[in-house]
Amino acid sequence: MSFKTLDDLTDPAGKRALVRVDLNVPMDGDRVTDATRIERVLPTIRELSDKGAKVILLAHFGRPKGERVTSMSLAPVAPAVADLLGKPVAFADDCIGQSGADAVGAMANGDVLLLENTRYHKGEEKNDPEFAKALAANGDIYVNDAFSAAHRAHGSTEGVAKLLPAYAGRTMQAELEALGAALGEPVRPVLAVVGGAKVSSKIDLLENLVSRVDMLVIGGGMANTFLAAQGVNVGKSLCEHDLASTAKKILAAADVANCEIVLPDDAVVAWEFKAGADNKTVSLDAVPSDAMILDAGNASIETVKTKIDAAKTLVWNGPLGAFEIAPFDKATVAAAKHAAENTKSGKLNSVAGGGDTVAALNHAGAAESFSYVSTAGGAFLEWLEGKELPGVKALEG
Ligand code: AMP
Repeated sequence: MSFKTLDDLTDPAGKRALVRVDLNVPMDGDRVTDATRIERVLPTIRELSDKGAKVILLAHFGRPKGERVTSMSLAPVAPAVADLLGKPVAFADDCIGQSGADAVGAMANGDVLLLENTRYHKGEEKNDPEFAKALAANGDIYVNDAFSAAHRAHGSTEGVAKLLPAYAGRTMQAELEALGAALGEPVRPVLAVVGGAKVSSKIDLLENLVSRVDMLVIGGGMANTFLAAQGVNVGKSLCEHDLASTAKKILAAADVANCEIVLPDDAVVAWEFKAGADNKTVSLDAVPSDAMILDAGNASIETVKTKIDAAKTLVWNGPLGAFEIAPFDKATVAAAKHAAENTKSGKLNSVAGGGDTVAALNHAGAAESFSYVSTAGGAFLEWLEGKELPGVKALEG
């Protein structure tokens, strides 16, 4: 994958840089309750501003579906960006048209301006060429720093990228480099750990991974579907019995691709889905018919650790058990900690992301030690599925 970065931008001073960022932050009234997304785009904003560019931020907020929904205005986000950036951030109440143009016209070199929610216009989600043209009218260059929105072919992620010289921002660049090192041209052997609730939401992902990785650990609720397909009685466990043939097809594809599939060796079962529920560890031929599997047992944990030790690259999505309710977080925590240790000692390149994975790794205290943790939910999953991301494709030159 080849794309231009800010290193390729030779003379940014005075240029109007349209910078697509992810500012879809959780809010309580006008207060930002988690500024992680803002923090991630600060390096790009700062670098461009310090180099004298006029930094014009494009972002969506919520799903206003082409209407001006006041509760989905980005206006309250501008002061939050300003606080963290340490310099003023102006705001224009439309991303196209006269008010956007006036605000851009009033900018001095190094200034930062946030334009109102791109999704206030129907043309954004439709990727209408006229809308993209109107966006592009306010810029000389385009920088995309929103990997999390790159799986959508929208005006501000894809359309405008085709109309202006386009560059990856620093966060986008870091994400693409980390993902490239994990599945693009990885150091082998590559291990994928895929857990979570259901096979149905991850069929494409599993099908792609079996052809790309050397070992695939299947854990969590979705492992039950595979076990049941192989004749294991999983009792009252979360299980998609109707997907038995899909599970078998994935196992057969893995066989052809020489990908080793690792399923649990034992199970922690309980009779209630709640924290502190009575539980016991059983072998797979002894799952009580009235109980459910909520975690992997010690034997499985040891197997997963062995596979982590055998790997040089790890891609992780999804927990190995019902990690939100103790003590059923044990396998997820043990595996995450082990991967974190191997990463710290330089033996492993570890990339994780998607859905609950960030929460699970944070819960294990392991996220900081992973080589890269992607906070992009849908985009990360589509990348794991091997799909082309339109916002990334548009940056390729
Ligand atoms: P996902 O969003 O597909 O990654 O699924 C994450 C969810 O799967 C978490 O809420 C976990 O509690 C749940 N989960 C993992 N393992 C199990 C299990 N054995 N039984 C029920 N839920 C599980």
